[in-house]
Amino acid sequence: MNILSNFQYHAPKTKAEVLDLLADIGDKSKMLAGGTDLVIMLKEKMIQTENVINIADVKELSGIKFTDNGVEIGACTTISEIENSKELVEKYGALVYAASQLGSYQVRTMATIGGNISHSSPCGETPAPLSALNATVVIESKRGERTVKPEDFILGNRQNILEKDEMVTKFIIPEPVAHSAATYGNIGLRNAMEIDAVNMAVNIELEDDKKTIKSAKLIMGSVAPKPIVSEGVPSLLVGKELNDELIEKVGEAAMSEATPISDVRASAEYRKDVVGALARRLTKEAYNKAMEA
Ligand SMILES: Cc1cc2nc3c(=O)[nH]c(=O)nc-3n(C[C@H](O)[C@H](O)[C@H](O)COP(=O)(O)OP(=O)(O)OC[C@H]3O[C@@H](n4cnc5c(N)ncnc54)[C@H](O)[C@@H]3O)c2cc1C
Repeated sequence: MNILSNFQYHAPKTKAEVLDLLADIGDKSKMLAGGTDLVIMLKEKMIQTENVINIADVKELSGIKFTDNGVEIGACTTISEIENSKELVEKYGALVYAASQLGSYQVRTMATIGGNISHSSPCGETPAPLSALNATVVIESKRGERTVKPEDFILGNRQNILEKDEMVTKFIIPEPVAHSAATYGNIGLRNAMEIDAVNMAVNIELEDDKKTIKSAKLIMGSVAPKPIVSEGVPSLLVGKELNDELIEKVGEAAMSEATPISDVRASAEYRKDVVGALARRLTKEAYNKAMEA
């Protein structure tokens, strides 16, 4: 039956209280942020827990704060706050667009960015753009703080590097460098409420001539148990000007690195084709935007 099993409910109001609880009972607890993944898993008995620690009301963990070096986004910031942030859209548009693609209006209102990466689904919407934007994930426990890249946070399907007493507290995203731009794209079988069959983010940085590629990053989701950072695409692009022949090769390189499975959302063959199409489109878009940046 779809009802919750018994658990002890904790509602800390400060980050320090959350870290205390995690130190004491982290091994017997689940953290609840928006609950859009967790509550379903509890109801469907995919997981069980003795304690639920609700972190949604901890104000220190929420909000978008601009700094001299970029922006900090609290782990409990909702996807809808990110989607609707007029300040974020100019420099961090790839993340804002990805946020707009997650679930429905109702889901985005509850779901958090910390919950999205911590759920560590292969098809999660925000890890790829966070990675393309060179974000840092800040992880804290009573023992201290450590930071990792988004691509190093997720280890596999619903697996990540968090220890039982740790939580994600925020994301730090640097100011984009000159002549650079990031793009995000996703494809599902229909437009609304669809978990992605493939998602991808690309970041291109140009030299001062605004033509030659200085650095490139391409990350794809939903094509392997964890997001894949392409090794082939940067080595194809760096030092060159983009042209049609290169764009074709970018698509081929990304396809050769994707290892998708067939499931209810899409066949492996379809996913590979989508990887090629997204890689070509997003690379071209990022290059053109970087020329203007
Ligand atoms: C109808 C529907 C459609 C959806 N569509 C999409 C979609 O298109 N794309 C997509 O990516 N996702 C989708 N989701 C999944 C979900 O909404 C997102 O993954 C969401 O971002 C999860 O955030 P949350 O705050 O609800 O997490 P919760 O459900 O509260 O938590 C998820 C997991 O992360 C842990 N956790 C939460 N916060 C932290 C933290 N700060 N530190 C450490 N661990 C933490 C929890 O303990 C739990 O294990 C959908 C869900 C539903 C119900």
